[in-house]
Amino acid sequence: MLSGIGFDNLPAVDMHIHTVHCGHCTAEMTVPNIIRRAEQLGLKQIAITDHVWNDQQLAMLDVIEQEFGALEPQITVRLGAEVDVDPRHADGRLIEQVRPCFRPLIIATHAYPQTTLMWYDDGQVSRRTKRLLLKKWFRWITAAVRRENVDVLAHPGVLLSREGPELRFEAEILDRFTDLFGVMRAQGVAFEINEQVKYKLLSQEQQDTYHNLPALAAELGVKFSVGSDSHELAQIGQLDWASEIARRAGLQAADFRLYSGPGLVKRPAKS
Ligand SMILES: [Zn+2]
Ligand SMILES: [Zn+2]
Repeated sequence: MLSGIGFDNLPAVDMHIHTVHCGHCTAEMTVPNIIRRAEQLGLKQIAITDHVWNDQQLAMLDVIEQEFGALEPQITVRLGAEVDVDPRHADGRLIEQVRPCFRPLIIATHAYPQTTLMWYDDGQVSRRTKRLLLKKWFRWITAAVRRENVDVLAHPGVLLSREGPELRFEAEILDRFTDLFGVMRAQGVAFEINEQVKYKLLSQEQQDTYHNLPALAAELGVKFSVGSDSHELAQIGQLDWASEIARRAGLQAADFRLYSGPGLVKRPAKS
């Protein structure tokens, strides 16, 4: 059964897909293979959004752009990027170095602010330090969301879950997101419903309460994007958990606003 497109509460799209160029995908994740797979699944639109964690990876985007230029897909394919909010600087300045043709521009945080600690480097951080870092995280991500050309915030809440498995997306945790969601609404930055969050949350309680986060965002007028965050072909269009979260959060079709502005895009030739 083809997954992803079978859900009537999600658009038939996958707006977050990585390629072999990032160095941690399977070898089959070439740009042509990704597009062929999405066509076979019947997706209407995809976005290729590879990682940029530092200035060296900006050149990788140029390589993907060259490959992209030669293709004639039968579905709409956008060439965007997933840019890390540079942890060396508190203001997300790496975003400004990405040429504005790469859209949607998804921003993400995979490391703690002003450290080299990745989201999975759990044991090295004391609880007290984590609390401080997460306070910083809200300041840091809010500054980044205010930057020009930012379209989507990837997997909100994943870094927060690192406070410990007992954390739940409830009560004061949600309060902390209120200001950020207000800025996202004002800036037109979408909340991404990301399939891989399922595997990154630390506990069943976090999985059971995660939908409260998009529910609050929707209440505050934030729009949504959706993506599998695929690193292998079989993950493309797989959005089972995303669909479930959208259902639990009470999202409607009108809550999704996929990026549709200028940028590198291929559309199917009219027959
Ligand atoms: Zn990745
Ligand atoms: Zn990603």
